[in-house]
Amino acid sequence: MSAQFLHQITGSFSQPSGENPTVAMVEAAYRHHGLPWRYINCDVAPADLAAAVSGARAMGWVGFNCSMPHKVAVIQHLDGLAPSAQIIGAVNTVVRNAAGKWIGENTDGKGFVQALREVIDLPGKTALILGAGGAARAVAVELALAGVTRIDVVNRSATQGESLVSLINERTSAQAHFRAWDAVLQIPPGTGVLVNTTSVGLGAPDDELSIDWGSLHAGIVVADAIPNPPRTHLVRTAKAKGCITIDGLGILVNQGAIAFRLWTGVEANRGVMRWALERVLGLAG
Ligand code: NDP
Repeated sequence: MSAQFLHQITGSFSQPSGENPTVAMVEAAYRHHGLPWRYINCDVAPADLAAAVSGARAMGWVGFNCSMPHKVAVIQHLDGLAPSAQIIGAVNTVVRNAAGKWIGENTDGKGFVQALREVIDLPGKTALILGAGGAARAVAVELALAGVTRIDVVNRSATQGESLVSLINERTSAQAHFRAWDAVLQIPPGTGVLVNTTSVGLGAPDDELSIDWGSLHAGIVVADAIPNPPRTHLVRTAKAKGCITIDGLGILVNQGAIAFRLWTGVEANRGVMRWALERVLGLAG
């Protein structure tokens, strides 16, 4: 029977969802690769998550992204978890596998690590992670799995920071240490990678992290999770110091490209995805 009029369906469940630009990025890649696939951005309330997942199963969706506030709650509705999603305890991508099982993955940290791997050899390195929320958990676990040997977590809240440090020490072979962020931060000598996963800079490009910029030097690779606007104060300062920098838009593209490959088996053109995001976010020159 011809499938000429039947699309493969993917999408996103989140709330609020109106500001989430992922649909533009993924659909641009489907068009670019000539795939008869669709990505539908769905606003799903927490009380409706179970029904939404059942609906996706009933309609034969290939998979979906989960964003706030469903990244943890979705797990109970799935058939299994990929190893890193299991350690992180959160899912941002669900994939229907060949056996028809729905498996939770987490591509947030993988997108970071892929971007870092393109500019630095990670095994044996030391990373300094600013923040200890959901993004920090994903990044820290993937850095540890990629062979980073020491991870320093710097956070204002000690409870959050110590919980992440325990997770890394108990579930991975990296050594993690917590440092309270209660004074201007001195970046320790020997740091190979500095990653900002705080929300400082989101929608506010001039907001500044509390860092002694004299302790940032050109040998450190700097990655900032903030996707919009991508030229944060941190990225600009690090560039001016001669550091290699990775911006949050690139990381957003990477995590989307990994989900795209998990769903379609196709290596997405990341340039097309980034351009689509820049266009809808008003960043295209
Ligand atoms: P969470 O709310 O879980 O965590 C926020 C973190 O930021 C906490 O550690 C919090 O510290 C810290 N923080 C907030 N304000 C400040 C401040 N003024 N000074 C120092 N620390 C501060 O958020 P997520 O981890 O889910 O997301 C964090 C950021 O990462 C968001 O901006 C999000 O857009 C971005 N992100 C980007 C992705 C990408 O693909 N580019 C993917 C996922 C996330 P405390 O615990 O002390 O409150």
